[in-house]
Amino acid sequence: MFEADFELPNIFPDETVYSWSARYHKLSAHHAEYLTSNILFGNTSSALRLDIPNRLNQFGHNTKQVLGSPLQLLLNHTNLKFHIPFLDKVLFNTVIDNLLITENNSRARGLLGLNKFPGNLLHTLKICQNCKKAQLSEHHFNYWITEHQFASSFFCSNHQMPLDTYLVPFYRGYVDRLYLPSQAQRDLKEIALDISTLELSLRKVSNWGYWLSTQKNLHLDQSKLRWCYLYKCTELNLVSFDGAARTIQLRDKFVKYYGSDFLSIFGQELLGDLFDVNCGFISSLVRGSKASKHPLKHILMLNLLFTSPEEFESILSRVIEDLTLGGDVACFNRITINQHKLKEAVRLGIPISRVAVDFNTNITSAIKYIDKKQISRPKKPRIKGTNLEQQLVQIIESGIDRKSICMSLGIKASFLRDYLSNHQKLKELWSSQQQIKLIERHRDDFRKILNDNQGRSVRGLLRIPGNGIQWLRKHDSAWLEENLKALWNL
Ligand SMILES: [Zn+2]
Repeated sequence: MFEADFELPNIFPDETVYSWSARYHKLSAHHAEYLTSNILFGNTSSALRLDIPNRLNQFGHNTKQVLGSPLQLLLNHTNLKFHIPFLDKVLFNTVIDNLLITENNSRARGLLGLNKFPGNLLHTLKICQNCKKAQLSEHHFNYWITEHQFASSFFCSNHQMPLDTYLVPFYRGYVDRLYLPSQAQRDLKEIALDISTLELSLRKVSNWGYWLSTQKNLHLDQSKLRWCYLYKCTELNLVSFDGAARTIQLRDKFVKYYGSDFLSIFGQELLGDLFDVNCGFISSLVRGSKASKHPLKHILMLNLLFTSPEEFESILSRVIEDLTLGGDVACFNRITINQHKLKEAVRLGIPISRVAVDFNTNITSAIKYIDKKQISRPKKPRIKGTNLEQQLVQIIESGIDRKSICMSLGIKASFLRDYLSNHQKLKELWSSQQQIKLIERHRDDFRKILNDNQGRSVRGLLRIPGNGIQWLRKHDSAWLEENLKALWNL
């Protein structure tokens, strides 16, 4: 224990241990960081860990615990706060043991998914300009706020402002100096993000991180999260009949949703090669790998799949209930429900094409599954020369759309296409009937707009989205002229 020549400053409830150490360093006028580190942690480098400093026991002892116990410091003033929702009770205790009792920091970091986390994402310091102003007017100095340092934080949750992000020089997990926000602006490289195009995604990702960090009792583990993803993927038709996630489609959705500019912030080092056979990190999240994953990967997936934390919570509670009542088997049954429905339908002789439409999936994958399971399926119904052909002709003549024809008769789109190209007269009749129906629909829409907007000028009507006037002008001008003479006076 050391004796300071002054009273130790308090740590703010939202301040990191690194930040407090930097302030202590300034106050005590130590010229070398390693001396400060040695005084506080009994080690020349521990103070230079940005995220989760090791040797907090020694730090607690040396500071006479005036800042709180080592455990309190760890939970509230380090980046461990970001990881806690993703630790089940056993893992949480193991991590704490490794950090505070055995001091096996490297093992703890492995369990937190930090060993493979890219250094340039880990060694940043972030601050909101408005928080900085508020700190300055209240305390006459600045400090680093814990929740701003989360890997998912890009916006301030108080001021909705983008965070200024500085890259700190680092070597083997330690940064070079103890910086305070005022110095960072002067001495560090600021990472500029194009907020204009990325704002929405960055805000949403930030908010997921903040929301999760307030959920002390979530205890999410890899297995619960995986089932949540699979439950939601089942709703989105991203799970095959045999219960495996369709990772390629999920990857495509992920890439389309976030866009390359956003994904380049995290890089291949974090996300893996999204275009390899495993679709980068994606398959490890949905295919039951037990290895620890950094929370940021989960946050990107949660934000992609769930529209809100409330939606996630409701699926999570279903997962927890299923796991409690029937374990993984119950969860697996839930995501393969379409498999059972498909088998039953085939047994009843319902055409696979029709079942596939009901499941909003394609026929090929349904047929592939049935054949793989060696279930005999009804052979392709013979259409030509049967009653079905008569029904087909009648239904084509009525002019309904392709999808409805296929669904009502349970025939494949490719069959209808071939049939129409072999019966040109019927095809022409079908096209003209379709055109009539289309005109009728546009006339109905137009009448409705007129009715809903009585007294509105023609210019006003033209400004209503989906007014259809231009379409009618092109395809049905005589009728339009009769019903909207004023248009011709414009
Ligand atoms: Zn702020």
